[in-house]
Amino acid sequence: MAMTILHAQNLSKQYRVGATLVNALRDVSLAVEEGEFLVVMGPSGSGKSTLLHLLGAVDQPSSGEVNLDGQRLADLSDKEATLLRRRRVGLVFQFFNLLPTLTAEENIALPLLIDGQQLRDHQERIDQLLDLVGLSERRRHLPDQLSGGEQQRVAIARAMVTEPAILLADEPTGNLDTRIGDEILELLRRACDQRGQTIVMVTHDARAASYGDRILFLKDGQIAGEMGLVPDGDSSAILQRLGELEM
Ligand code: ADP
Repeated sequence: MAMTILHAQNLSKQYRVGATLVNALRDVSLAVEEGEFLVVMGPSGSGKSTLLHLLGAVDQPSSGEVNLDGQRLADLSDKEATLLRRRRVGLVFQFFNLLPTLTAEENIALPLLIDGQQLRDHQERIDQLLDLVGLSERRRHLPDQLSGGEQQRVAIARAMVTEPAILLADEPTGNLDTRIGDEILELLRRACDQRGQTIVMVTHDARAASYGDRILFLKDGQIAGEMGLVPDGDSSAILQRLGELEM
């Protein structure tokens, strides 16, 4: 039986901008199964990043609640929320955010060091991750000695090094050309298939969305539809659905 690892109920988020309130997210509920690769699709401004931040305890909802890994986020103290973010959530962004003075391997290990852990206790996992992302031969390279795609692969390994309950990826291919982007999506697919990594990825790109197990469509801060598995790299059915949803 699949287990729900992430559960969001009636999430709403308002931002105050001067005298006006922006409804970035309105009454969004969703559940993610352990080992599932969920994609959230929607146009710019539809609330995708806001949703991802709420799911990862980066920000707090105006109303509604999130359950991650058996914990109600609203019940956590600031310190507990920081630890949960550090240990149970992996984040990947459009820009790779690597530290320029650290090697690929050191960048991957960084979340463990920040958590006060000893590298030698985790070398095997780091080696496995370097292998998963295909960078075993480049482990001693600095970020500026790596291509954009390679830097994003380091960022993905870094996000997985704490064995997070969930990997949250915000437009991870947004800064890469299509071919390199496909490699990154195949890597995420592999992390899910081979390591059982649960993933929530946000994208506005139908081709990227095709790599997931399930797609949620977000429009004006609300869930407008849902769609099951489509073949990797095949965006035609998704584009048709986007048309039907007038997105
Ligand atoms: P997406 O990721 O789909 O582009 P966002 O979640 O970034 O959408 O934004 C949703 C809406 O909330 C947009 O109208 C955006 O302008 C607004 N918004 C996002 N973040 C803030 C903020 N920090 N302050 C005010 N408005 C914001």
